[in-house]
Amino acid sequence: MLQCDQYATIVGKNELDELKRLAQYMAERRVVMVNSTRIGGGVAEILNRMVPFLQELGVSIRWEVIQGDEPFYEVTKKIHNALHGRAEDLTEPMLQHFLDIGSRNAEQIQLEDEIVFIHDPQPITLVDKRKAPSRWIWRCHIDVSRPHRSVWNFLKPYILKFDAAISSAPAFAQQLGMRQVLIAPSIDPLSGKNRQLPIEEVNAVLQRLGVPQDRPIITQVSRFDFLKDPMGVIDAFRRVRRSIKCRLVLAGGTASDDPEGEKVLGLVKERAANDPEIHLLLLPPNSDLEINALQRASTVIVQKSLKEGFALTVAEALWKGKPVVASAVGGIPLQVRHGYSGLLVHSVEGAALAIKQLLNNPTYAKQLGENGREHVRNNFLLTRHMREYLLLFLTLGIQEEVVRFDGKPF
Ligand code: UDP
Repeated sequence: MLQCDQYATIVGKNELDELKRLAQYMAERRVVMVNSTRIGGGVAEILNRMVPFLQELGVSIRWEVIQGDEPFYEVTKKIHNALHGRAEDLTEPMLQHFLDIGSRNAEQIQLEDEIVFIHDPQPITLVDKRKAPSRWIWRCHIDVSRPHRSVWNFLKPYILKFDAAISSAPAFAQQLGMRQVLIAPSIDPLSGKNRQLPIEEVNAVLQRLGVPQDRPIITQVSRFDFLKDPMGVIDAFRRVRRSIKCRLVLAGGTASDDPEGEKVLGLVKERAANDPEIHLLLLPPNSDLEINALQRASTVIVQKSLKEGFALTVAEALWKGKPVVASAVGGIPLQVRHGYSGLLVHSVEGAALAIKQLLNNPTYAKQLGENGREHVRNNFLLTRHMREYLLLFLTLGIQEEVVRFDGKPF
C-alpha cells in the first residue's frame, strides 16, 4: 500500500485512482518547482507536502530554492507588498540587485526539466534562461488585482515569457494576453498540522505553551507581517473582552524570505503590553503539532488580514471544524461564505462583533465550523490541487503535440 492510499478514506477511492492515472501520463516529463524558501509561509507549506506525494505517485518532480542575501529579500518583500497594492519605494539599484541575484541563481540551478514551475516574483527572472522545448509556468500566490503600477510594469515582461500563469482566485487575474489558469491552493489533511489529534495531546501542548484553557480562546496563526494585521486582532480582542472573558493567542514565526518579521513582532509586543490574557507565541519552524493543537483548542479562529493571497490558515481552521472570523480579502471569500462557513468582516469593530456573536451562540458557531469542514473537503484539499496541476502539465504537453501534428512552430 502506498502512503497516499490513506487519502481514500478522506476524498474517496475514485479521486485517488484518477490521480494515479494522471500521474502515469506524466511518466515522460520531468518537473521542477522553484520558490524562495523551504520554511515558513504557505508556498513552502504546500510544496513540503505536494512534492513527496507526487514523487510517490511516480511523477519525476524536484524542488529547488533560490538563494538570496538580505538586501535581496528586502527588495522581494517590497515587491510582494507593492503587488498587494502598497506604494513602495523601489530604486534602480534595488531592482538591479534583484536582477543580479536572479542571474546568479540562474547559473546555479539546473532548469532543464520539461516543465519549470516558478512560484511568485522572487525567482521570476529565471525565465530568461528558458530553452525550448520546456514549458514554463508562473504560479502567483499573491492578490495582484490592484498592484502598484510601476512594480507591475517591471515584472510584466518577465510574466509574458511564461507559457501560462496561475492565480488562486478569479478576482486576481490581470489582462495579460497569455494563458491564465485559476487553481486554488490546498491543505494536506494528513500532515502533522492537520491530522486528528487526541484531546489529551491538545491539552498537553497547550499546557506546555503556557496557555490556560480556563476560558474561550481566540486565535490567529500567522507570520508576523503588517498585512496579517496582528495589531487589529489585539484591538478586536480587547473590544470582545469588555463583555466576555476570553484569551487571545497570536501564534507565528518568521519566514527566511521575510525580513519584516522582527519589526512587526516588536510592535505587536508593544501593543500587547504584557497583557496576561494575550499569549504571544513565537513558534520555531516545523511547529506543526503546536499549530494543530492551538487551532483545535480554539473557540474562534481569526484571520484579520488586510491583504491576502489565499490564507491556508483559514482552510486549516475550517478543516478542524472551527468557526472562523476573517477579513473579506484575497482568497478568503472563496473559503468563507458569510453566514455559511464562517463570518466575513471588514474592520476591527466588525471582527469584534462577529467574535462576540460566535462566543454567545455556540450552536451557530458549531454549524459554521461543520459547513466549513465540508467546504474544505470538497474544494481545498491537496488531492484536488494536484489533479489540477497534473491536468495543466498534461495540457501544456498536448499543445506541443498539436503543434507537431500541424507542423507549425509553437
Ligand atoms: N505557519 C506556520 N508557523 C507560523 C505561522 C504560520 O507553520 O508560525 C503556517 C500556517 O499554519 C500556514 C502557513 O504557514 O500553513 C501560512 O500560509 P498562509 O497562506 O496562511 O499565509 P502566508 O504566510 O503564505 O502569507
